[in-house]
Amino acid sequence: MIQIKGVTSFYTGLDDKKIRAVDNLSLQIQQGEHLSIIGPNGSGKSTLAKLLNALLVPDEGEIIVDGMCTGDENNLWDIRQRVGMVFQNPDNQIVATSVEEDVAFGPENLGVPPQEILKRVDESLDLVGMGKFKNRAPHTLSGGQKQRVAIAGVIAMLPEYLVLDEPTTMLDPQGRDEVLATVDFLKKKGKSIIYITHFMEEIIPSDRVVVMDEGRIILEGTPREIFENSSLLKEVNLDVPPIAALADALRREGLPIGRPLQVKEMVSELWPLLS
Ligand code: ADP
Repeated sequence: MIQIKGVTSFYTGLDDKKIRAVDNLSLQIQQGEHLSIIGPNGSGKSTLAKLLNALLVPDEGEIIVDGMCTGDENNLWDIRQRVGMVFQNPDNQIVATSVEEDVAFGPENLGVPPQEILKRVDESLDLVGMGKFKNRAPHTLSGGQKQRVAIAGVIAMLPEYLVLDEPTTMLDPQGRDEVLATVDFLKKKGKSIIYITHFMEEIIPSDRVVVMDEGRIILEGTPREIFENSSLLKEVNLDVPPIAALADALRREGLPIGRPLQVKEMVSELWPLLS
C-alpha cells in the first residue's frame, strides 16, 4: 500500500516565489488497484507522480510505500524498484541501441544476475506484445512501440506499482490504443496501476479516480461517479467523454437513459427505447 499523508510540495519560482504544486494532499493507494489521477495542466499530477517514487521528497507530510518512508535516503533504491515510472516522452526513456539491451538496462543497474536478466527481458517484452522486436533498434519503432518498450523496461525491474505519467500524450491514435491495451493487460495480470492523464476517456477502465486541481483532490470516486459531476469537471476545464455527454443531453430531453460511458452501453440503453 502507498500512504500519502498530508503532503505538500513546493517549487521555487524565478522570483523566489514559492509555488505550491501539491497542497496538503492525503490518499491511500492499495496494491493491485488501478487508480487514475486526472486534472488540468498544472494541477500537480506530475509532481505527485515524482513524489511517489522519491524523485521528489515532500516539504510537509510523508509518503509511505509498503512501510518505507520516501524521505529516508536508506529506502531510496527499494522504493525506486518498487514504484516504476513511465513518462510522457518515449524517446527520453530509451537508453540503448537495441530493444533487448534497453529493457535489460534497469535490472542490470539493480545487479540482477545475467541469466535472470535474459529471462526478465523475454517475459517483459512478451507482456507488452513486443517479443518479436527484441533485436530491433529502438529508433526504428513507432511511438506506441517505443512506449511499450519503455513499459517493458520498467516491468523488468519487477515493480509492485507502475506509475504512468501521461504515457499517451505524445502518441498518435494507434499508439495510444496500443499503450491503453498494454495497461489493461498488465492490470489483468494483477499489477498496481497509477495512471495519470488529462484525457477523460482514459480513466474509464480504472477502479477509482481522483480529480486534482491546484494541488488538491477535488473529487474522488468510480469513473461513473466522476462523470456525474459534469459541472465541477467543466469548472476545471475537463470535458466529459462524448458518450457520457450525449447521455446527459438525452436525459435532459426527457429520455430515460442511465449513465453509459461506452458505445456498447449506450446501444443497450437506446435499443429498448427504439424497438
Ligand atoms: P501537472 O502534471 O498537473 O501539469 P505539475 O505537477 O507539472 O502539474 O505542476 C504543478 C505546478 O508546479 C504548476 O504550477 C507548475 O507550473 C509548477 N512546476 C512544475 N514543475 C516545476 C519546476 N520544475 N519549477 C517550478 N515550478 C514547477
